[in-house]
Amino acid sequence: MNSDFEKIIEQMRQKGLYNDIKVIESGQGAYLTIKGKKKLNLCSNNYLGLASDKRLTEAVIKAVKKYGVGTGSVRALSGTNFLHVELEKKLAKFKHAEAGLVLQGGYMANLACIQTLLGKEDIVISDELNHASIIDAIRLAQVGNKFIYKHADSADLEEKLKEASKVAKKPKSDGNLPTMLIVTDGVFSMDGDLAPLKEIVKLAKKYNALTMVDDAHGEGVLGSHGRGIAHHFNLNGQVDLEVGTLSKAFGVVGGFVTGKTAIIEFLRQKARQFLFSNGLSIPDTAGLIAAVEIMETSDSLVKKLWENARYLKENLTKLGFDCGKSGTPITPVMLGDENLAKDFSNKLFENGVYATAIKFPMVALGKARIRVMPSATHSKKDLDFALKVFEKVGKELKVFSN
Ligand SMILES: *Cc1c(COP(=O)(O)O)cnc(C)c1O
Repeated sequence: MNSDFEKIIEQMRQKGLYNDIKVIESGQGAYLTIKGKKKLNLCSNNYLGLASDKRLTEAVIKAVKKYGVGTGSVRALSGTNFLHVELEKKLAKFKHAEAGLVLQGGYMANLACIQTLLGKEDIVISDELNHASIIDAIRLAQVGNKFIYKHADSADLEEKLKEASKVAKKPKSDGNLPTMLIVTDGVFSMDGDLAPLKEIVKLAKKYNALTMVDDAHGEGVLGSHGRGIAHHFNLNGQVDLEVGTLSKAFGVVGGFVTGKTAIIEFLRQKARQFLFSNGLSIPDTAGLIAAVEIMETSDSLVKKLWENARYLKENLTKLGFDCGKSGTPITPVMLGDENLAKDFSNKLFENGVYATAIKFPMVALGKARIRVMPSATHSKKDLDFALKVFEKVGKELKVFSN
């Protein structure tokens, strides 16, 4: 047995598929220390810099001194600390939603929503480029009627809704009509493009479907104060389930769902991920309360993030790079060839810039790119340094045709 694992891993190495995980010797921020060397960090999801914000650290220390670390049991038994309740209230208020439920991660939140709402005889309609956790959730729920629509294509979504409506008319074995759920990422993380949420909500109403958006890369980024994609499109209160992560812009770890009280209560009573797995620890929860308070009271970090993103994108484009079709700070530098992307990322790293190559199977073959992730922690000087290195490496690897 053992030798089989070794063989497979060896094959992965030979094919260049082995994931050599870098170990970070510093906290998160504009720079990371890797093997004793400082590298400009352009690959974290720490959009607002909250992961190492002093205000979070202090809130965590205070809470840990008072309440310790662990919560002792699952939330449904004796593991719901008042801090969990406070965090859920604050998140709901921040999102302008009726209620919120916090889970252990965005991945878990997606599993909880889809597995609790849908079963074998229900219907899911899903964007073809949805996040792995949504795909896994649909598998886990064993949803019998799956319709996958073309990426962000509302015309194809309507076609799929027409087909799905036929299934929706036939009662399930328990006599109820099937639940029909449209699910999409809010922001697609490889390209940074947005779901056509206005059209999705309109079609959902027309065809009597529920809507769920996974706003992992939209929170802290889109809408006023970073309240997310629903606010960005003025659709507040019109998406049934807004799922989010607490590990990206919010800077800690965890996931959450906001929506109407009834649907959130339903999840709290029934979701297996909530009932059979412990909730967030005291430090996580206390840090997150501080994060939401910061985001609620000021939008200066969100503004700084966008200012940095615009500056970087504008100047990368001026240098001659193709920055794709992103509508968010996610900045793909399109290179096409997989080996070119790998070499480009390696050369950036040698020159002090850490930005990862994204290639097949994460994106289609021939669509390899460097994904550049600016954040509110970067100064203009940091970005100018990045631009200089991108220009140098671009010339060395003959990315520019002129
Ligand atoms: C990052 C991400 C997740 C996972 O969130 P975690 O909190 O890390 O589990 C889920 N969905 C999308 C779209 C993401 O980008």
